[in-house]
Amino acid sequence: MTAYTPPPRDSAAAPIRINLLSDTQTRPTSGMREAIARAEVGDEQIGDDPTVNLLCERVADLLGKQAAVFMPSGTMCNVAATLVHCRPGDEILAHETAHIIAREGGAHAALGGFQIMPLSGADGQFSPDTLRGAIHPRSRYQPPQTVVSVEQTANIGGGTIWKKAALDEVVQIARQNGMATHMDGARLLNACVATGISARDMAAGWDSAWIDFSKGLGAPVGGVIAGSHDFIDEVWRWKQRLGGSMRQAGVCAAACVYALDHHVDRLADDHANARALARGLSQIQGIEVQQPETNLVFFKPEGAGVSGDAMVKALRQRGVLLAMMDGRIRACTHLDVSADMIEETIELVREIVRGA
Ligand SMILES: *Cc1c(COP(=O)(O)O)cnc(C)c1O
Repeated sequence: MTAYTPPPRDSAAAPIRINLLSDTQTRPTSGMREAIARAEVGDEQIGDDPTVNLLCERVADLLGKQAAVFMPSGTMCNVAATLVHCRPGDEILAHETAHIIAREGGAHAALGGFQIMPLSGADGQFSPDTLRGAIHPRSRYQPPQTVVSVEQTANIGGGTIWKKAALDEVVQIARQNGMATHMDGARLLNACVATGISARDMAAGWDSAWIDFSKGLGAPVGGVIAGSHDFIDEVWRWKQRLGGSMRQAGVCAAACVYALDHHVDRLADDHANARALARGLSQIQGIEVQQPETNLVFFKPEGAGVSGDAMVKALRQRGVLLAMMDGRIRACTHLDVSADMIEETIELVREIVRGA
């Protein structure tokens, strides 16, 4: 797997007009900023911030879990979760493209002493059979396999949606083998909006699940992880240890509560924009596009005579920001991307291909 290529930071380049780099690029809307300004706050670390408490109750309820805790990032949700589920030397099973393997700075090995068994499979998902095949009998020779992790949606897989039946089967296999289950739900609500399946149903049976607020939901920071009371107590200890306990975090949580009220249903617009982008790109001779299921569009321009890097650079010169991810270009739709911007992007790609 090739590394994430950071976007070109060329100060001479045109100003960015269309930002398809990531759904983390959203800026708080004026409504969200008003909610931040009005936020009631207290000391989050001692459980005294009313807005953080409200957010945690909302997310626990949304995911159908007993309790939840507000974290500064999705990465800290993943890290704290494995630190609770595993002991040093334990093995985590996850897809080979998983964020926990490639994009968290080796945190699970560095902080927990865990190894991650990379499972293969199309579109960022492993099949229940692949999972069964990776499970070994308990013996003193092999690392204890303690947790199975999935991404809903599977980011590098193309923003693909795990089917509810497959999720249920993974939970069943994990339980039969005495393993815990963890759902990296950075974009779980995208999957829910796209399928009409509730987050509670998607996360049913999973020991831990979290959602990110700084992606498509459009808040500036934060993720919320949910699980049983006992699990969340342990997560709190790790949050403290990792330096993730905050103070008047209600200013951040207010943006997240606002996002739950105003930015969930509209994810459907992002999905429509992603489909429009994929449709337009696929009509350009030689461009190879993976049909999007949510808000991520992966494509390869090589067949049109332009390398991925050259395409990213040429688009950047025209004010469009996106990047290569694992050998393909990823375009990400979000609340600061309009249908007009999508049309313009397609036209610019067409122009670049014509000039190649
Ligand atoms: C972004 C992302 C994370 C990490 O979230 P941050 O809030 O950026 O730390 C974890 N998993 C997946 C699948 C992601 O896309």
